[in-house]
Amino acid sequence: MKIPYARPDVTPDDVQAVVDVLQNDWLTQGPLQERFEATVATYAGVHHAVAVSSGTAALHLLYLAMGLEPGKTIWTSPNTFVATANAAYCCGAAADFVDIDSRTYNLSPDSLSQKLKTHAKELPFLIVPVHFAGQSCAMEEISLLARRYGIAVVEDASHAIGGTYQGQPVGCCRWSDAAVLSFHAVKIITSGEGGMILTNRSDLYEKLIRLRSHGITRRPELFRQPNPGPWYYEQLELGYNYRLTDIQAALGLSQTNRIGAYVARRTEIARKYDQALADLPVIQPWRDPRGSSSWHLYVIQLATEQIKRTQREIFENLHHAGIGVNLHYIPVHLQPFYQQLGFRAGDFPEAEAYYRRAITLPLFPGLRSDELAFVIDQLRSNLLS
Ligand SMILES: *Cc1c(COP(=O)(O)O)cnc(C)c1O
Repeated sequence: MKIPYARPDVTPDDVQAVVDVLQNDWLTQGPLQERFEATVATYAGVHHAVAVSSGTAALHLLYLAMGLEPGKTIWTSPNTFVATANAAYCCGAAADFVDIDSRTYNLSPDSLSQKLKTHAKELPFLIVPVHFAGQSCAMEEISLLARRYGIAVVEDASHAIGGTYQGQPVGCCRWSDAAVLSFHAVKIITSGEGGMILTNRSDLYEKLIRLRSHGITRRPELFRQPNPGPWYYEQLELGYNYRLTDIQAALGLSQTNRIGAYVARRTEIARKYDQALADLPVIQPWRDPRGSSSWHLYVIQLATEQIKRTQREIFENLHHAGIGVNLHYIPVHLQPFYQQLGFRAGDFPEAEAYYRRAITLPLFPGLRSDELAFVIDQLRSNLLS
């Protein structure tokens, strides 16, 4: 048996949607990108959505549009994919981290409060909470703190479409200026590669649309020079080509029909893991009663003092059995790039302690019950003998 930790679900409808685009006039810059944007914006309950070529591109453009520039810093969680922090360096700015809460594995509001006090002279320009594994951060507390210090908040919601917080869809931007989604093949819905920025701010939206396509506008009311004719466009600032193709947008749009079904199935599998692992020496994911997770990931922590094998032995044994367990995440500040910037082991002890005990189990909508039973059985024998 070969069981990956994640596997995209592509249906015949998805395939047909992509084939339809391939047989049409527009492979890119056609109508599908806008339809995909409108559908996700409605789903999340926001005014605007900007589709881009990846979640990383979404972070980069959003940071730029917010005004992140050299000399400024973002603060994010060390328990994230490197892209959240890297995008700050792509802007010529810098990243720093706020340690995680040992129960939620998300950026800790208490650590944030502490760090804001001790760094009163070097406050960040942006705070970027990451909804790890699909469970929302404590957005109310984080946004309150940020407002008190006059700092903007944008969310990395790459894991979390389909989740809720305080009765609102994650990504609704009630507690932030904008939220970023990823449609990489392992995420809740996929366009192969792809990402999106959600916001209620029209000014941010206009700027993001321009930055996505070289900083160019075709809207005459924005022109700074006389308009010589209908061919004319102006490049107002330095942008990129971060567009999503219509081929990708067709796949993503088709997948939006199943966000609810996907999250329901993920939730069901998570509940089965909860039941099956309840008597084992592991710490199970904590469920925040203020919301519901999209269950992008099911991460356990090993109660290492009660287990004979090491994290590495268990990881390797499961791989040998064909089970593609994973580890989310190596704390970002421990990467060589960040070490060279001056970060050190011990800087964020909760994220590091979590990392030494964490294992991500396979979780995706197409995981069959015999596969699930096999994972549980193999894990159980590794933990108990
Ligand atoms: C996947 C992911 C990203 C990057 O998204 P890509 O689409 O792969 O570029 C950023 N942040 C987090 C938390 C992610 O999981």
